[in-house]
Amino acid sequence: MKLRFWGVRGSFAMSGREYLRYGGNTTSIELVTDAGKRLLVDLGTGATELAKQLMGSEFGKGQGVLPILLTHTHLDHIQGLPFFTPFFIKGNEIRIMGANPISGLSLESTLQNQLAPHYSPLNGLENLAAGVSIESFTPGATITLPGFEVVTAAVPHGSMWTTAFRIVADGKVVTLLSDVEYPSPDDPLPQALALAQGADLLVHDAMHADHDYELRRGWGHSPARAGVILAERAGAKKLALFHHSPDATDDMIDEVVQRTSARTAVPVIAAAEGSYLEV
Ligand SMILES: [Zn+2]
Repeated sequence: MKLRFWGVRGSFAMSGREYLRYGGNTTSIELVTDAGKRLLVDLGTGATELAKQLMGSEFGKGQGVLPILLTHTHLDHIQGLPFFTPFFIKGNEIRIMGANPISGLSLESTLQNQLAPHYSPLNGLENLAAGVSIESFTPGATITLPGFEVVTAAVPHGSMWTTAFRIVADGKVVTLLSDVEYPSPDDPLPQALALAQGADLLVHDAMHADHDYELRRGWGHSPARAGVILAERAGAKKLALFHHSPDATDDMIDEVVQRTSARTAVPVIAAAEGSYLEV
């Protein structure tokens, strides 16, 4: 399975010369199996770059099929939706799957609101030319998709919950834990341990450098060490720090990787926009 990070930034997109190496777009991750089956996780602004590439393939001809999983509907994870061009081509079939937000609104009405006229000229999901289905699931469910088996779990994110994923394809496991804060970063929750057990790659929220965390405790995000502790306990083979703070320059992220690598035998990288990983 191949994984490509299209957006790795949290909260809001950044631009500027200090952000060129790791990238400024918000979260979107593409997974492709050896047989060419594709799965997208999150529709942050990074998804718009993937969209350009997809338009040169069957998606440009209205023959594309794409399942999309959402971790949650905070804006940095869905801001690319109104600009994801495969939605505008008739014939494409796109499924958007996620848990209902805890606000009491359904996933569908939340995404519908994003396209309301005061936010977007699209004026509603029904105006997207592609076939678009919005499907909600209860975290804990296992989702079977062409080429992928996905185990889901709810994890705490400040005052709400997000969905974490254990994605199995081609006999490999990728675990995605974005936007998560455990009650203690030194003690990952059992559902996170279960999802990450023996993972070939663990992608984990690392919004805060360890030395910044105490000032930001309770904001719903993890310090870098939370991913390390989980990776070690779960026996994950590699850790990718993800959901970088918009305040974190390339040099600051390098430093976090250096410090984090020094405390563990698990190989640690920082997710970088546009980079491929062969899992
Ligand atoms: Zn986020």
